[in-house]
Formats: sequence, C-alpha cells, structure tokens
Amino acid sequence: MLDTLEKTNTKTVAAAELQSTGTSFLDELFDKGLLIATGVDGLYGRSGLFEEIGEGFQALVSRYGKADEPEVVRFPPAMNRTVFEKSGYMKSFPQLAGTVHCFCGDAANHISLLQTIEQNGDWTAGQVASEIVLTPAACYPLYPAAANRGPLPAEGRLFDLMSYCFRHEPSRDPARQQLFRMREFVRMGTPDQVTEFRATWLERGQKLIGELCMPFKLDVANDPFFGRTGKMLAVNQRDQRLKFELLIPIESEENPTACLSFNYHQDHFGKTFGLTTDTGAVAHTACVGFGHERVILALLKHHGTDVKRWPASVRKALWG
Ligand code: AMP
Ligand code: ZN
Repeated sequence: MLDTLEKTNTKTVAAAELQSTGTSFLDELFDKGLLIATGVDGLYGRSGLFEEIGEGFQALVSRYGKADEPEVVRFPPAMNRTVFEKSGYMKSFPQLAGTVHCFCGDAANHISLLQTIEQNGDWTAGQVASEIVLTPAACYPLYPAAANRGPLPAEGRLFDLMSYCFRHEPSRDPARQQLFRMREFVRMGTPDQVTEFRATWLERGQKLIGELCMPFKLDVANDPFFGRTGKMLAVNQRDQRLKFELLIPIESEENPTACLSFNYHQDHFGKTFGLTTDTGAVAHTACVGFGHERVILALLKHHGTDVKRWPASVRKALWG
C-alpha cells in the first residue's frame, strides 16, 4: 500500500513540475514527512510533529480567548443537509460544496455495482444523496442549534468551535487543502455586541501572530462567491467591510495567504435560522476563523522545518 502511495506521489509531483515550478514547499513537506500524500491534491495525512505544532497553536488561541469564557462546542465534520440547503450555501459557493452519497440498493443493484467497478465504469452514478453533507465552515452547524435554545440572553452568546471542513478546491498549494481544520469563535447578539467582538479579535489576532514572529498584513476581503451575481455580492461585502483577513506569505510573497478571517454576517444567519435577541430582534452574528493548517504551514515556512531551531520566544508561545 505504501508503495502505491509513494508511486502516486512521485507521479503527481513529476507531472506538476512540468507545469509549474511553484511546488517546492509541498515537495519539501512530503520529503520531510510533515504531510503525507494520498494521490489527491489537497488531501493529506499529517505527521506527529505537524500535529504537535497545531496543538501548540490551538493552546495559544485558547489563551487569547479564555477571558471571554466561550462555550466550547464540537460538531463532527458533516452537517444536516436540510440545514445546509437553508443556509443558502449552494447559491453562493456551489463549486466548493461536498455531499455524502451512499449505496441504497438491493442485492441485484449490488451485483451491477460490482460489475461496473470491475469494468472501470462510473459506479458512483447509482449513489444516492444521504441526509448529510460535509461541513464547509466550522460555524455552519451552530446557528440552528443555537436558535433551538430560544432567544439569546441579554449578554448574547459566545461559542468556541473547531472542525475539519471540506471545500472542493484541489490545489498543489499546501495552504489550499480540501479537508482542513478551522477553529472559530462565534458571537451572537446585538449589532453592537458582535461588532465589538470582531474589533477585539482584529487586535488580538495581530498580537497573536506577532508573538509567533511572522510577517503579516490585514486587509479587507471577500468570499469566492460563484458566478455573475457572485461578483456583485463580493463587491458589496468589500464595500461594507464585512470580511477582513490576516494574511501571511506562505506559497508566495506577492499573494500572501489568509490565515485568520474576521466575518460580520449582519442578520443573515439570525434571519435564516430564527435566532433572536432577548428583546425579540433578529440576532446579528460574527465569527473569527483560524486556519489551523495554514498557521502551521506559515510557521514551518518562516522558521524552517527543524522545530528545535525555532526562536525561543516562538517555542515558548506555543509550548510554554
Ligand atoms: P473562510 O470561511 O473562507 O474565511 O475561511 C476561514 C479560514 O479557514 C481562513 O482564514 C483560512 O485560514 C482557512 N481556510 C479557508 N480555506 C482553506 C483551504 N482550502 N485550506 C486550508 N485552510 C483554509
Ligand atoms: Zn464562521
């Protein structure tokens, strides 16, 4: 099995090298065993060291958020398909979504399925959509669950989430994966409460990345909305400064990578899922998202793959 994996890896690397020279960081990560190839771009295994760096980073994020006493909630990396449909995700990002399909046939269908596989046919054509889809962002399953608890208390609510997320964006850039982890803090409440939360995290995020001794810049951003209407949504999002990103150079100096996002959804999720404040007004929501793998990769890029040689202050920030 390992043999097959290695061969697939060598093949894809060689093919990619013919097309571009910008693949060296991914190759280095494979060579050092930090990421493990699967034969699919953007789908990787992680080494023990990669995970240790991630644990250090998550502990640091927890320390920055601790004073606010967020409620910790963890969902599996999949969500209710009905909730997903209601969220409007397919309107905005159909190109990124991943659905879970299953075999629901009888014995005769099974025989024909196996025959199709044997003949290298498209056996997936008979798969049926299940009631779950893959989670596109850690906060998506939270809104209906929070709304189920009734109106928010006067002080609103604050949650701490982390989940693997799926986005269908295959790439040779190690910072653009198809299955990656997102840590989030999600604030729900009045417009004042949620905008104050976002402003606080915009400051904290910069301080946190500063502690890790990495160069960064902060910028207004937009989500990759699909199609022509999507272009308008993107312009609107930028004009209203609804999304900020903290960018760190990883794959390229000119196009640094968004490692932290600060999103203000206004009343979108409140309206969609019937989330209200204690006065009965539609609740506003905001979230700050930390790209788990992206920060690990940024650390490896800037301080090297030999963790023992990282600056003492960075090691202390991560592991005490
Ligand atoms: P977004 O919802 O697009 O703002 O994503 C939240 C955070 O997840 C971003 O700031 C990134 O750090 C991270 N992220 C988004 N897409 C990917 C991806 N394809 N691979 C790895 N990390 C990602
Ligand atoms: Zn979110």
